Amino acid sequence: MALLDIHVLGSPILREPTRPVDEVTDELRRLVDDMFETMHAAKGIGLAAPQVGRSERLFVADVDDNPLVFINPEIVLAEGKAKGEEGCLSIPEVYGDVERAARVVMRGLDREGAPMEVDATELLARCLLHELDHLHGRLFVDYFSLLKRRSAMSKWEKEKAKYPALRRALISPKDLADQHNEEAL
Ligand SMILES: [Zn+2]
Repeated sequence: MALLDIHVLGSPILREPTRPVDEVTDELRRLVDDMFETMHAAKGIGLAAPQVGRSERLFVADVDDNPLVFINPEIVLAEGKAKGEEGCLSIPEVYGDVERAARVVMRGLDREGAPMEVDATELLARCLLHELDHLHGRLFVDYFSLLKRRSAMSKWEKEKAKYPALRRALISPKDLADQHNEEAL
């Protein structure tokens, strides 16, 4: 497995729609595994393909130790409304409230290409909807009011300076441990 660089706001791929997956291949399963590793290293709860520079319609999520892969996801049902704070691995240090459906039933294919359906509420529902948005080029800051968006973007302009290539490289927990070991020697 390998850690992937995360594209940050400003990278064009985050605004492009994805294309449906025709066939779940070994190569795609490797991508899924790498996305899980990357998401966990970044301490995120969801990661969509465009965030790692890929245009396949898929995302991974892990809320409450429940790892999920959604390939070609679609909403079957969305109901109610709930407001909650969100952040995004592609827009570090920017947070804000977003109103979304309180409950969502989503269907798609799993890592083996088998049909699956998840009935989600609370944080999982929010996470699935946030990730689905990524697959259509939408970002959580798009829901902000004009004023809130302006202040979020001025914060991001300062933060963005840390990512001149519009990529965020991660260090795996194992490499971090190795580094410390070297220092100890
Ligand atoms: Zn995101």
